[in-house]
Amino acid sequence: MNLLQHHLKVIQAHQPQAWQGLKDIYDSAFELDNGEIQFLGRSWDTPSYSPTVPPHSLGIMLYGMGDGQLIKTLLAQLPAITPVLVIDSQPELAWACLNETDFSTALADPRLRWMVGKPDTLFASFTEALLQQHDQLGLIWLENPLISQIAQLLNDPFLKHFRHLKATLGPQQALAKLPQLEELFLKLAPEMTQTHQQYPLSCRSGCADCCHGSVGFHLCVNPLEWALMHRSLSALPRSERQVVFKQAVTSLASHRDYLVELLYYFDTQPDRLNHPDFHLELLQMAGTHRQEACLMLDEAQRCRVYTGRPLTCRVFGSSHVSQQQPFTCEKDYQQMEQILLDEGAQNHLVDSSAYRKQLRELHQNLEYKHVLNIWLLCHLDFSQGDFKPLRIDYQQFQTLIRHPETLERLLSELEQAAQVSGGTETL
Ligand code: SF4
Ligand code: SF4
Repeated sequence: MNLLQHHLKVIQAHQPQAWQGLKDIYDSAFELDNGEIQFLGRSWDTPSYSPTVPPHSLGIMLYGMGDGQLIKTLLAQLPAITPVLVIDSQPELAWACLNETDFSTALADPRLRWMVGKPDTLFASFTEALLQQHDQLGLIWLENPLISQIAQLLNDPFLKHFRHLKATLGPQQALAKLPQLEELFLKLAPEMTQTHQQYPLSCRSGCADCCHGSVGFHLCVNPLEWALMHRSLSALPRSERQVVFKQAVTSLASHRDYLVELLYYFDTQPDRLNHPDFHLELLQMAGTHRQEACLMLDEAQRCRVYTGRPLTCRVFGSSHVSQQQPFTCEKDYQQMEQILLDEGAQNHLVDSSAYRKQLRELHQNLEYKHVLNIWLLCHLDFSQGDFKPLRIDYQQFQTLIRHPETLERLLSELEQAAQVSGGTETL
């Protein structure tokens, strides 16, 4: 069997999606010869490109397969679970490269996915792959410089799309938008104060019924809101973070079935996230679990991350209008019903839809969200009994949730560590 036939079998077996993109190509105007790519009377050297990726990368998006050395180098330096998605929008060039280089080991590596196709066929499937990644804040975006150069020469629209996403996604992007999010929340604060002054609302410090049940337990936040909450969480004293850590692990153990269902929902239906019925679906899924409190609530019924709390928590307490429909806490429902009926559309409630819209605009390239518990659980650092900085270890979370024996072991280690230290707070 010659090398090419061998590659084809490997692609068919391990990269069926890439196979679809290649199977109609019988000839290619590209040639790879002695370390050179030749095309349209031009030739390019294929210099090696070996970026150093940070050890905490949660996934690699690589544009351009090239001669394959880059992929082999990446796979060699990455941890065993870090996924690598290679996107190639020039199937003819990929074909030429495959003809020349032995990729078989790399193509069979379970971490590698390879999407190859003409630019117009890649847009939708790439967006879908991105949504399923879930770890977008931890993605590293790479380009094979040589392949990008050729794609640019060919005016490849997918390369432009890739570069746009590369420039607008990534951990630094969520952090870079934090000042704008804080500005938005600063703008909201006086409106909320005004609402509280205007109406006989029962909200007061220590009242936290809304942090239990339907709002608290499956509070859904987007990556930008999470970045703000995470900052407040990181600013807590270590002993306080350790309390939250322990509660989070215990909660994971007691709600495993619900979280498995939730995970499945988020993994398989990312398009539902912006559906109007999304919240109702979550409520239904939460079932009896929803009586639990938000993990950020302390013993005195105060929010541990008050300054970093998300939009839902900011508007819920002050009663609000969402999609022209007034909402109010059930504690105030009787009094507020008549007042709001009398006022009609002239009410002074905060228009939360307008703020949600602005939040979405700030966030337009990170259109996914998670239940707060999932965000927390994806940051667990068992070696420190603490939360990881800017780490969204979805893989670890999936392992914990799908392999309860691992979770049981970690829980018992936590208990033992607590007993050894003789305290309840030190893990
Ligand atoms: S919204 Fe209701 S439960 Fe929440 S703080 Fe206000 S009065 Fe209390
Ligand atoms: S984040 Fe804070 S305000 Fe929001 S539900 Fe949790 S404890 Fe309550």
